Amino acid sequence: MPDAIIDSHIHTYRTADEGRRAQQGTGRSGQTGAFDEYVELLAGGAIEAAVMVNMTPVAEMRDALVARGQSDEEASAEAIGRLQRRNAWTCKIAREHPRLIPYISVDPSMGEEGVVAELTSRLAEGARGVKLHPANQRFAPGDRRLWPLYEEAQRLELPIISHCGLSFDKEFPEYASPTAFREVLDQFPRLTVVLAHLGYGFLDESFEMAAGYPSLMFDCSYAVEGSLDPPAISDEDVVTMFRRVGAHRVLFASDWPWGHPLRDAERIRRLPLTDEEKGLILGDNARRVLGIDIAAS
Ligand SMILES: [Zn+2]
Repeated sequence: MPDAIIDSHIHTYRTADEGRRAQQGTGRSGQTGAFDEYVELLAGGAIEAAVMVNMTPVAEMRDALVARGQSDEEASAEAIGRLQRRNAWTCKIAREHPRLIPYISVDPSMGEEGVVAELTSRLAEGARGVKLHPANQRFAPGDRRLWPLYEEAQRLELPIISHCGLSFDKEFPEYASPTAFREVLDQFPRLTVVLAHLGYGFLDESFEMAAGYPSLMFDCSYAVEGSLDPPAISDEDVVTMFRRVGAHRVLFASDWPWGHPLRDAERIRRLPLTDEEKGLILGDNARRVLGIDIAAS
C-alpha cells in the first residue's frame, strides 16, 4: 500500500445506534460510526491503519446517573465501569482487526494507582496509547493525579493524544487550550503528546506551543477536512498553518465518523504542498511518531 494513509484519530462504536447517538447529528461523514463500517473502508486499500481514540464521557455520565437518583459513589463507580468496558472492547476489536490501533481512555477520578493499573492491564490486551479529553472530562491536563500515567507513558514510549481546541467545550475552555499542556511537557520532556484538531479555535496558542516544544505533535482532524463547503479554513491558510507548525509534526486524522477519511485525505492531496510534505502528513509522521508499521508486520 505505497500511497495508503494513516488515520490518526477515529471513534468506533459497537452498533450503528450507539454511533448515531454519540454524533447527535453533528457528523459529516454520512456514516454511523459502527466499527464494521470502518473495517470496510480499510478493505478498500486506501487506508493503511487507523487509531481508535475511543473515549467515555465520564463526567456527563456521572451527572446523568446522579440525576436519575444514584449516589455520587454509585454513579462514579458505574461511569468508570463503563470506561473500563469500553477500553476492553476497543482492545478486543483491535485484536480482531489489527489495522485498527487501540488507544484507551482514563479518568483522573480513578486516582493515581487506578489510572496506572488501567493502563497496565490494557497494555496486556494490546493498547498502544492513551486518549484524553480534558474539557469533556473536566480536568486540567496538568492534574497531578495523571502524573504517574505520564511517567509510565514516557517510560514505555506510549503516545498521549488529547482533544484540543474547538469551541463547543464551553464549560472548561481553558482545559482545551494548547497552552494547558505546558506544565506536562515541561515535566515530561520525552513524552509524545499529540494535540488534536490542531487546537482549532486556539491557533495562536498552537503556534506558540509548537515553537516552544519541538517534539509536540498535532493532528489536523476537523481543522482540515473535506466535507464542509466552504471549509472552516481556506486552502491557503491550511498550507500556512501546516508550514508554521512544520509538516513533519502534523498527523492526518479524520475524527471519523465526524469527518470522512477519504474525502479529508483527498483535500490534503489537492493542497499546494510538496509531495514530501503530503507524504509526511498523510502517513510518514504517524509511522515515525506513533510507531505504526502495518506493512512490516
Ligand atoms: Zn475525536
